[in-house]
Amino acid sequence: MIPGWLRATFGYLRRSHPVRLVAIPLVLGGALIAPGALHLGGGTGHGARDEGVVALTFDDGLNGDATLAVAKALEDHGGTGTFFVVGRTLEMQPEVARALVQRGHLLANHSADHETPSAFDPVYSTVAVAERQFETTIGRCPAFYRAPHGTYTAWSWLAIRRAGLRVVNWDVEVRDWDATDAKDLARRVLAGVEPGSIVLLHDGRDGHPGRDRTVLVQAMPMILEGLQARGLRPVRLDALLDTPGYLERCP
Ligand SMILES: [Zn+2]
Repeated sequence: MIPGWLRATFGYLRRSHPVRLVAIPLVLGGALIAPGALHLGGGTGHGARDEGVVALTFDDGLNGDATLAVAKALEDHGGTGTFFVVGRTLEMQPEVARALVQRGHLLANHSADHETPSAFDPVYSTVAVAERQFETTIGRCPAFYRAPHGTYTAWSWLAIRRAGLRVVNWDVEVRDWDATDAKDLARRVLAGVEPGSIVLLHDGRDGHPGRDRTVLVQAMPMILEGLQARGLRPVRLDALLDTPGYLERCP
C-alpha cells in the first residue's frame, strides 16, 4: 500500500507548475546540506550527567605551537583532551600528532580537508582518506568523527557508518574562534558547562596551520581552574563516553 503522504506528493507533482518541479528538488537538496538539518540516527552531544567529568574537544588543528600549548595547559591541570584533527595537517605536522598521542591525548577525525559535504557527493571519501592519514602518522585510526562545520548529508552519514566511526558533536559552543578576550571566553565556556558536557573549542582554524589562537591559549588555564573549582575533571571522549577512541582495525 502506498502511504498517504507519498500519494499526495505524486498528486501534487502531477498538477504542478514547472517552477515547482524545479523548486522541490532544490528544497530537498538544501535540506541534505543544511547544517544540522538531517540527523540520521543523531550524533552524541554529551556524556552522563551524573559524573564529575567533561570532555574538552579541539577542532581544526593540527596547529603547531597553539595545539601544543593547549595540550600543555591540560597536562598542567591534570587533564586530557580530544583533538579533532583535519587529516591534511597530519602530513604537515606529524611530530605534533605523535606528541599529542605520547602525552596521553586522544586524536579524532575531522575530515581530510575541512570541506563542507556536497549533497551531490554520494561517496564522501574524506572520512576514509583522513583515516589513512592517521594510520600512516600514528599507526591507529580514530573511532570518533565530527564533520566540518557540523554539516552532514545522507551520503556522509552512510560513509561515516560504513567506516565504523561514531559522530560526536557538542553541547557547549561559544564561538571561541571569534573571541578577543580570554577572560570573557573562559567565563562563557564555564557558564555553559555542566557534568557530562562536550565542549567545542578550536586550536586551529579550518585546518590551516599557523592561525593565531592566542586568546584560547590564554583562556585555557582559566577554563581549567573554573572546572576544577566546580569539581569537573576534563577527560578524553573515550573516557567520557566509555567506548574505544580508536578502531580495532583501520577501515
Ligand atoms: Zn572545523
